[in-house]
Amino acid sequence: MIGPYGVEYEKYAGEIYVSKQNGKRKQGFNVAQLKPDGELRILGYTSRDEALGKTLEEGVRGILKSYGWFDHVISRMMAEADEIATCTVCGGDYHERDVNLIDYEDDVCIVCEPKFKATPPA
Ligand SMILES: [Zn+2]
Repeated sequence: MIGPYGVEYEKYAGEIYVSKQNGKRKQGFNVAQLKPDGELRILGYTSRDEALGKTLEEGVRGILKSYGWFDHVISRMMAEADEIATCTVCGGDYHERDVNLIDYEDDVCIVCEPKFKATPPA
């Protein structure tokens, strides 16, 4: 898809897009987030340099982490629709890896779980 300034983007994972890769091992690129309204929001510019062992994934994660987002927020952004689970305690959406669907009657996310464990509902 075409993003701001006519730059072509390709999907990376979930709602994360990167500017089109040219196949070179060393390349600068933009990381963007597809918003619900269909607009791409540019998050930042970074590089990959596979000669130095810096992969595309490390470049993408570096940008996301630079925002101070927690790992579970980043995982949620990179989750596909069928990988998203809803916490029945807080109502938030998370990557299914971050929701405990097994141990309780409720589906409890990793944010709610410590408190939930300490004071389970009667
Ligand atoms: Zn929760």
